[in-house]
Amino acid sequence: MAAAEPPIQAVVRPLDLAQHQIEVTLRLPDSAMKKGAVLSMPAWTPGSYLVRDYARFVDRVEAKDGQGRALPVQKVDKQSWKLPAASGVSLSYRVYGNDLSVRTNHIDGAHAHLVGAATFLYFEKDLARPYEIRFEGFPSDWKIATAMPLADGAYAAKDYDTLVDSPVELGTFREHRFRALNADFELAITGAHNGDEARMAADAEKVVTEAGKIFGGFPFDRYVFLLTFSPKAGGGLEHKASTSLLCDPFIFDKPEGYWRLDSLMAHEFFHAWNVKRLHDPVLGSFDYTGENYTKQLWFHEGVTSYMEDVIVLRAGVVPWSSVAKSIASGWTRLSQTPGRFEQSLEESSYDAWIRGYKPTEFSANSSIDYYGKGQLVGLLMEGALREATGGKAGMPELFARLWKERGEKGVTDADIRKAFRDISGQDPEPFWDAFVRGRKELDGSQLERAFGLKLEAKAPWESLSADDQKDPEAVRRAKAWTGLTFGNGATAGTVIQNVIPGSPAESAGLANPMEVLSVNGWRVATGTEALARFADADPGGTVEVIAANRGRVFATRLTVAENPTRTWSLNADAAATDPQKAAFTAWTGQPFPAPEKRKGLKAP
Ligand SMILES: [Zn+2]
Repeated sequence: MAAAEPPIQAVVRPLDLAQHQIEVTLRLPDSAMKKGAVLSMPAWTPGSYLVRDYARFVDRVEAKDGQGRALPVQKVDKQSWKLPAASGVSLSYRVYGNDLSVRTNHIDGAHAHLVGAATFLYFEKDLARPYEIRFEGFPSDWKIATAMPLADGAYAAKDYDTLVDSPVELGTFREHRFRALNADFELAITGAHNGDEARMAADAEKVVTEAGKIFGGFPFDRYVFLLTFSPKAGGGLEHKASTSLLCDPFIFDKPEGYWRLDSLMAHEFFHAWNVKRLHDPVLGSFDYTGENYTKQLWFHEGVTSYMEDVIVLRAGVVPWSSVAKSIASGWTRLSQTPGRFEQSLEESSYDAWIRGYKPTEFSANSSIDYYGKGQLVGLLMEGALREATGGKAGMPELFARLWKERGEKGVTDADIRKAFRDISGQDPEPFWDAFVRGRKELDGSQLERAFGLKLEAKAPWESLSADDQKDPEAVRRAKAWTGLTFGNGATAGTVIQNVIPGSPAESAGLANPMEVLSVNGWRVATGTEALARFADADPGGTVEVIAANRGRVFATRLTVAENPTRTWSLNADAAATDPQKAAFTAWTGQPFPAPEKRKGLKAP
């Protein structure tokens, strides 16, 4: 057995924290520099499927040898630098980080959140080489939180993938620790907020415990939540033994704030299995030079969004009513996305790099979100498995089976279908053909058969308040539909944001980014005003529209139609059977919800 390669020894120092700058020095092992070498910055970071070109944040790249003599450094592509053969080589560079997100560096006078891919160069042909990282010169009251183990003052990563997978938070965060099942957990919280950290930590403990139970324990000894609060911030990024979370500080005035954070924690934590360990073979080891294509993001992301619901329900930290609302609004969103007939889940996954992360105003017409639709498809898979097994097994069992059978060996679509077949005894192909590879409308009847839950649609005029429903004029106005959408906000004006394909607006020749100036002779200043003037007409009625296109004004006529959009809700069926109720409880860990009393049937 060959001895382990000597590590790259990295030292990270502040240059000017307020100006978002650090300096990184890499001591490159002599054995790797005998013929010279090329070192690169990644184009992207795993979990966030967009080429971000982290090299654009790196400059002042300088090298010297063991005698302190400057070495020539030659840039050989957008993200790579070539060094000559030498011994005792130190390579240093400045890193700029001023983007508070979970996949980029953020450095200021209060903290530094460092992402491996945005901070450290790698040997072009040697991703297996270990790293040792020291942090020197930071404010004396700053602490360090990371999943990397600390030994002799240095944080160790066994290879570049591990380094990139181990974000580091430096600052004055507050620490909460707990033990669950077979592992130690740390919650490092940065930034002020209006919540109760003891509750956040208690919820985190319940969440990780329910996730761990699915797999019979955790695949690590220690796990770190890096949670940062900052106004309007949001998002999470998964790692094997940690996660970076961003959260708005003002959400805890309502219980929904905790539910949102709990769901985010559950999502990122479930990724410790789904995508970080159970993954398409393409997603690790990674190619950092460019796009890594997979058709499985619907499963790795969308179904993780689904499992997040299962975990928070079983943990008892989010009520069923909230989860039911979120499922129903996801169903509504998809039903109002014309792109559902244009792009499959597999296609959406594959094109994440060029579509999901780069939306245009036309995206809703041409594509779907693999998170949103994937979440609903995960729910339908749950229904199919529960129905086939009399409620006994579902998606948690599917994941447990994949974990047992595949572990970290890689999970292909065929493996997922096999697990589905093994549990249900059913041919998975029709389901996949319809909803994963295909673009069929989702069928909610599965939920009724499996759990006694009904997806129910309401037209806009049926969603009016009880008083408005008695007002024929309000009902009539709610029926008017043009297929136009406008931007929100006072400054958005009447610039058309999107036109639904096949809608009256399309027939009238209207399109993004034309501006609607008047409707039936009335000057309109906002999208809301424009839609109100369209609603003056009955469905079938025609109105005159004056619009502008690239500075030229023109007139057209638009025939208002009856609104075909529907809003969905997910309700307990009063006629649900005992086996359906038992399946619901096996699935969610919650009692079957009491069917909602229909309003207005009886006087109180
Ligand atoms: Zn995710």
